[in-house]
Amino acid sequence: MGPRALRPRRRQLLRAGLAATAGVGAALLCGCSDRGSGRAAFRTREIEARWVGAEHARGHRLRDAATLRSVHEPWPAPARRVGALVLGGGVAGLAAARGFIGQGTEDVHVLEVEDTAGGNARGHSMAGLACPLGAHYLPLPGPEAHEVSEWLHEIGLLRTDAAGRLVPDERHLCHSPQERLYFEGQWVEGLLPPAAPGSPRLAQYHRFAGRVATLRGGSRARGAGAAPAFALPSHRAAWSAELAELDGMTFAAWLGRERLDDPALRSYLDYCCRDDYGAGPGVVSAWAGLHYFASRHGFGAPGDEHDSSGPRDAVFTWPEGNAWLTARLAQPLGSERLHTGHLVLAVREERGQVAVLSLNVREGRLQHWQAAVAVCALPLFVARHVVAPAAVEVRAALQQAAAALTYAPWLVANLHLDKPLFDRGGAAPAWDNVLHGSRGLGYVDATHQMLSPVRPGGIVLTAYHALDSAERAALLADDPRPWAERVLSDIEVAHPDLRQRVQRIDLMRYGHAMAVPRPGLQRHPALQALRAARGRLRFAHADLAGYSVFEEAFTAGCEAALPPWPTA
Ligand SMILES: Cc1cc2nc3c(=O)[nH]c(=O)nc-3n(C[C@H](O)[C@H](O)[C@H](O)COP(=O)(O)OP(=O)(O)OC[C@H]3O[C@@H](n4cnc5c(N)ncnc54)[C@H](O)[C@@H]3O)c2cc1C
Repeated sequence: MGPRALRPRRRQLLRAGLAATAGVGAALLCGCSDRGSGRAAFRTREIEARWVGAEHARGHRLRDAATLRSVHEPWPAPARRVGALVLGGGVAGLAAARGFIGQGTEDVHVLEVEDTAGGNARGHSMAGLACPLGAHYLPLPGPEAHEVSEWLHEIGLLRTDAAGRLVPDERHLCHSPQERLYFEGQWVEGLLPPAAPGSPRLAQYHRFAGRVATLRGGSRARGAGAAPAFALPSHRAAWSAELAELDGMTFAAWLGRERLDDPALRSYLDYCCRDDYGAGPGVVSAWAGLHYFASRHGFGAPGDEHDSSGPRDAVFTWPEGNAWLTARLAQPLGSERLHTGHLVLAVREERGQVAVLSLNVREGRLQHWQAAVAVCALPLFVARHVVAPAAVEVRAALQQAAAALTYAPWLVANLHLDKPLFDRGGAAPAWDNVLHGSRGLGYVDATHQMLSPVRPGGIVLTAYHALDSAERAALLADDPRPWAERVLSDIEVAHPDLRQRVQRIDLMRYGHAMAVPRPGLQRHPALQALRAARGRLRFAHADLAGYSVFEEAFTAGCEAALPPWPTA
């Protein structure tokens, strides 16, 4: 079923007109509060908006005086003794648990504060339709992410063809059309603003593409087998003075130096940085801005030989986003080894063991664990408060690494619509739909991947907003309506019938969604020291890379679980 032209109802038009006259842009979102469900919810005749997905009050118990006191009192006895403990059930933690099982340590247990594992890659559903709460795609892994490829092969997403090459199962690749851009009143294919033949804009596109291609080609010049200059995971790339220089300046400064100032190119790059890193070119390093392209598919200017429409451009995605992957990572653990609703309060690396105190948040009960070995897969802003490594230098590295990181808050909104939106024509509705110049990052159609053409339950659109750190405190508000309003007013520029179609908005807030790759983070000595820690307490999280993607988190988990482990 394709998008249909819908005529706004007269009542809606009248009300919209009245609201505009009164200067009350949010008039369509007003109503009473309903706390019966235990979660703040606000209902209007048309649209209900509510917070879902995570109970930030759970994590904030780490700031609570009574909870902190329990850490300094004797821990409950007897302790539960296990072979290995993994703290945090995001991608990195689940990959570490898989690593332990693969090496024969079946007695591995994961402690996760939320009710579901997956961390930033969890899923949700509305009206029976699956949708993401966070991460939503995984590009085809490159050669340096070999652990990811091996696992994808194990679960059937990559297959070996007759020539022995790994090829993707196309049913899980993003269906066409993949992306489109709302630009100057119409939808165009791809995400790059159009550029006329011979225009200065097209010339800048080509110049930027050339710079990316030269940087990517650096390793080829060094010969076969040399590590590439840009790789995923990033610590497997070769480092050089040129890369260190790029990491020492902001992307905006580099673009200025290169005289790449076309507004459309800048707007596109701004979108790319906010989309991948949660902050724009004025904040992230030039290394990060270029890594976005150079570590994957390059930058494809129209008609360019590095056109990005090749196979590396393909991405795996599912209606529930990367929750499809984390559900499969978590599945072998079962409820016996995956302990959800467990807040890790304290971790002490001791002689011959790692002692952990957790709080079962559902039962309000403390649990004392003793593990032969442990992997801390918590974000570093949490780990710095709860983890006490034995070695003084690792303890110092944890504090220094956490102090070096800043995190972007994010908002993810799932909008349940009774029917597809009216489309203004131009490029056809795609999986990823971006609005040029918008504050938000556009929306993904969670139902795009469904094989059935019939959508009896309507559709779900997932809108993403990377926020400024100054907006973090406002995310804690009980009332989700101002945020729902922000999401609606962002998308309705391209879809005037949006408010008529939306049945409910479920909002997920992330106070610390992802580390922002600011200048100076790549090869930061403290982050490297944490990655290199090989005692009985080790670290794994995307934070170790200074930015957050699946490949970084998964590889960090695999590496942390690798033997040998201390025996004494
Ligand atoms: C909105 C959003 C969209 C994204 N989109 C993509 C995408 O499309 N593709 C992509 O590759 N990446 C994406 N990312 C990046 C994503 O963060 C990584 O891909 C990956 O999921 C990070 O995994 P992690 O295990 O390193 O961290 P996390 O997901 O942060 O996992 C840490 C885990 O520790 C738990 N935890 C924290 N404190 C405690 C405690 N005290 N006790 C117990 N448990 C605790 C958390 O609940 C969480 O489950 C996105 C991120 C966000 C926020």
